[in-house]
Amino acid sequence: MRGTIVVLRFSAVGDVILAAPALAALRAAWPQARIVYGIKERLVHLVKHNPNVDEVLELRQGEGPCSFARRIRALAPTAVLDLHNKIRSKLLRLLLPGVPSVIWHKRDFRDTLPVKLALRPYRASMLFADRYHAAVEELVGRPLPHGKLEYFLGPGDRAAADAALRANGLDPDRPLLGLSPGANWETKRWPVERFAGIARRALAQGLQVAVQGNEEEADLGRRIAEQARGAVDLSGKLDLRALGGFISRCVAFVANDSGPMHMARALGVPTLALFGSTDPAMFDFRGHSALFAGVPCAPCSFFGRSRCPRGHFRCMLDLDEDRAWSALTPLLGSGRLPLLSA
Ligand code: SF4
Repeated sequence: MRGTIVVLRFSAVGDVILAAPALAALRAAWPQARIVYGIKERLVHLVKHNPNVDEVLELRQGEGPCSFARRIRALAPTAVLDLHNKIRSKLLRLLLPGVPSVIWHKRDFRDTLPVKLALRPYRASMLFADRYHAAVEELVGRPLPHGKLEYFLGPGDRAAADAALRANGLDPDRPLLGLSPGANWETKRWPVERFAGIARRALAQGLQVAVQGNEEEADLGRRIAEQARGAVDLSGKLDLRALGGFISRCVAFVANDSGPMHMARALGVPTLALFGSTDPAMFDFRGHSALFAGVPCAPCSFFGRSRCPRGHFRCMLDLDEDRAWSALTPLLGSGRLPLLSA
């Protein structure tokens, strides 16, 4: 196949990273095809250095579907692989009549319906990355070997991270533990005091500790640095480029269910993930570690919530610091892990 395949996945960080194995499978199946990736401008760096992407079509800030559809049409696409499947990509497909499309479905309605009817908590029946892969198989029309979950750093990413580490008194060549206490939703956040406890234990073992987060999460990093003397708060100091470089410098990474958690696994960095109101069965943690308290009400949501609807927040509060430290300790000495095959 020598045509042009336009892949759409505009956001978010984790979802884009999870699409990497599907892109690898597509490239292996159709090595002659031109793969064009449609993504929000601010996230372009996530796919820019992926060798399985030939061209990036950035969705500009404020750009409407008609304009973007015109730019897709100018590429004379053979097919659209819609790994986004939300209002924006649905509109685009409508604006591209005659272009065959294959659509990814994030969740199976048999998984979601009982949750919407409040009959039971959500349980993912399939890994998200496998759902992406299934869409590629549907496009190609045959079963395909799975690609690897791999994040491709750009040539300057490590240097950008190292500069930020040095500017904040850290040595990029000494063992470093990365903490990522943020997440888009409150019920996906393990208590900041417990992150600080992990930081204190790691510092006592001679590790350097740095906290990562965006500007809106700066308060979390500040509080951890206050409660764990020696931990360095890098919140708001790492752009997307430096984020990959930073995570790749870590001997291990501790995170909530968030984009940086996926980036860490895709870099082979041993990762301890803390899950509260969302389901760890959506993702592959072989070799890594995911903690989930398993309280009867969990997982109570697909994405997370702004507050616990039951008021007790046991899904996160039942995950204590000792348990997290026990899960993290073997990861600290494991070195880089093999990349996961989705
Ligand atoms: S404790 Fe239960 S109800 Fe509350 S946020 Fe967690 S999973 Fe949802």
